[in-house]
Amino acid sequence: MDRQQEFVLRTVEERDIRFIRLWFTDVLGVLKSVAVAPAELESAFSEGIGFDGSSIQGYTRVFESDMIAKPDPTTFQILPWRGETHGTARMFCDILTPDGEPSLADTRNVLKRTLAKASDKGFTFYTHPEVEFYLFEALRTDGPLVPVDQAGYFDHVARGSAHDFRRAAITMLESMGISVEFSHHEAGPGQNEIDLRYADALTTADNLMTFRTVVKEVALEQGVFASFMPKPLADQPGSGMHSHLSLFEGDRNAFHEPGAQFELSKTARHFMAGLLHHAAEITAVTNQYVNSYKRLWGGQEAPSFVCWGHNNRSALVRVPMYKPGKGVSSRVEFRAVDSAANPYLAYAVLLAAGLAGIENEYELPDPTEDVVWDLTPSERKALGIRPLPQSLSEAIEIMESSELVAETLGEHVFDYFLKNKKREWDDYRAQVTPFELKRFLPVL
Ligand code: GLN
Ligand code: MG
Ligand code: MG
Ligand code: MG
Repeated sequence: MDRQQEFVLRTVEERDIRFIRLWFTDVLGVLKSVAVAPAELESAFSEGIGFDGSSIQGYTRVFESDMIAKPDPTTFQILPWRGETHGTARMFCDILTPDGEPSLADTRNVLKRTLAKASDKGFTFYTHPEVEFYLFEALRTDGPLVPVDQAGYFDHVARGSAHDFRRAAITMLESMGISVEFSHHEAGPGQNEIDLRYADALTTADNLMTFRTVVKEVALEQGVFASFMPKPLADQPGSGMHSHLSLFEGDRNAFHEPGAQFELSKTARHFMAGLLHHAAEITAVTNQYVNSYKRLWGGQEAPSFVCWGHNNRSALVRVPMYKPGKGVSSRVEFRAVDSAANPYLAYAVLLAAGLAGIENEYELPDPTEDVVWDLTPSERKALGIRPLPQSLSEAIEIMESSELVAETLGEHVFDYFLKNKKREWDDYRAQVTPFELKRFLPVL
């Protein structure tokens, strides 16, 4: 037993923890949880806990359904919302096959594999997500959704529920070791944003899984409903998860080069070129739902075209304001990802695209300083600015022939993901929508 594992066992005893939830994520990014009693912990660490994977999205077929969840002791945290006495804690798990091999369905492992490739080249991958979400009065799928307020971007809502909400959520996140950098009201009514401090991508992805749970819990506690759906309201902004990305070599930010344009190194430029080159192929992963494309093509500052710029909020990749000489904060912001993506897969494909750019020394095109939505199609064409996929169907079709995505996700996740998404598209396409009835029934 190593020291981390001993620490967990000691803490469980000292803090009177009665349930330890073992957390992992299905292929689409839905959190799964199985609780074990403290007496089971030692064997959970040594052998793992067996479970039936056949009912988990993307795990196994029924005839090979035994799976093993092995907790990662470095992720141990007490869940604040479960109370002080007879408490509950959680650990994230790696998922193994009965032979002890990493499960090919475990998306945490997909990210770990990709991070290992970066680390072979001497890089650590850091991410800093800005997570947007809506607060509604209640969950409703059969009538108009009512946002908790009518405030807008950066509005200070005196005694508003959003204000209390953010305070409660952030306090809870901080108590679980997740640092929050900024938080504010976003542009839509009831829309909020909370930005996590940058951390290595595996930690960020774990933190995002926790974040979504905490936000949902606090919302329930306060009698409201939180949603990470990419575009819940047709005429209001969607919820993006802009992600700031950087590579470090040891303590040095490999994206920083004093004196260069925007102080961005060659490594950063190749990385960005990789993001742009592979953007369309990875969109099905960063924007995985039918609804994601309503955000991407619904205006309101969501990116629709593949280009980059400095402080250009219409660009897919943005180089944020930088403080000259402050090298550690050099980074690039990728703006397509939405708040409903599986963070492990999203960060894996973003890193893979960036690394491909570095490996193949892709040339970075010129920055776009125009607002790309205002250009005509032929102006965009002349500038070499291509669109992102316009629907889930188009995104899957492009992903299907992507070697980069196939290699990054591995055959199992790649096939399952495509199959699942094709089914989603078929189900969606078969619907007769209120839009059609309203527009066509009176006249046809
Ligand atoms: N909500 C916008 C999006 O969907 C972003 C708005 C912003 O943070 N500037 O990406
Ligand atoms: Mg922001
Ligand atoms: Mg925002
Ligand atoms: Mg941003």
